[in-house]
Amino acid sequence: MAAGPAPEARSLMDEQTFLDNFNNLKYPRKTYLCYKVERLVGENSIPVDEYKGFLRKEGADMGLERCHAEPIFLERMASWNLDTELHYRITVFISWSPCPDCADELVKFLRENRHVNLRIFAARIYDYLQGYEAGLRALKAAGTDVAMMTFQEFEYCWNNFVDHQQDEDTPFPPWDNLVARSEELSQRLEGILQNQED
Ligand SMILES: [Zn+2]
Repeated sequence: MAAGPAPEARSLMDEQTFLDNFNNLKYPRKTYLCYKVERLVGENSIPVDEYKGFLRKEGADMGLERCHAEPIFLERMASWNLDTELHYRITVFISWSPCPDCADELVKFLRENRHVNLRIFAARIYDYLQGYEAGLRALKAAGTDVAMMTFQEFEYCWNNFVDHQQDEDTPFPPWDNLVARSEELSQRLEGILQNQED
C-alpha cells in the first residue's frame, strides 16, 4: 500500500482536528494555520484557490528551538513567487496568534513583499512569551489586520478547510461559549493593539 500524503500536503483536515484545535476555550499545544490567497484588482478580489490550504506544527519540543507554524508558512508563501507586478491579499486563520519572533518574521516578509497584504484571524491569543503584545502591534504597524476569529471565521474555516467526508453540508457545530469567548478575546486584543507602550 502506498503511503498517504504527508499531513502538510493534505488540503483538508478532519472535523475533530479542527474542533479540538480551533476551540477558543481550549489550550492545545499544536498550532494549525489555514490560509487563502486572493488577487486584488481595483475593488474586486479574485480567489487564487491553488494556494488555499492549511499546515500545522506540533509544540512537542519545549526547548529553545522554535517550532511554530509561521516559519513554515513563510517558506510556503515564498515558494509561490507571487507576481510582484500584481497585488495580493493573504488571509490566515491561525489557532494561536503569532509569538513575538514569528511576528517579527512576518513583518520582515511584508517589508520585502509590498505586493502582499496580510490579514490574520486568530482563535486564541498566544501570551506565553514575553513581548507578545509588541509583536502583535508590530504586525498592525506593518499594515496587517489582526483580529480574533468570530463565529463567521470559524464557520468559514469549517466550510473551507475541513473534510466532511460523505456529508458536505454538515453545518458548523459551535461549542458552548464560542461567541462570548471570542468577544472577550477581541476586547483584549483591541486593548493590546491600542496600547502604545512596548
Ligand atoms: Zn512563533
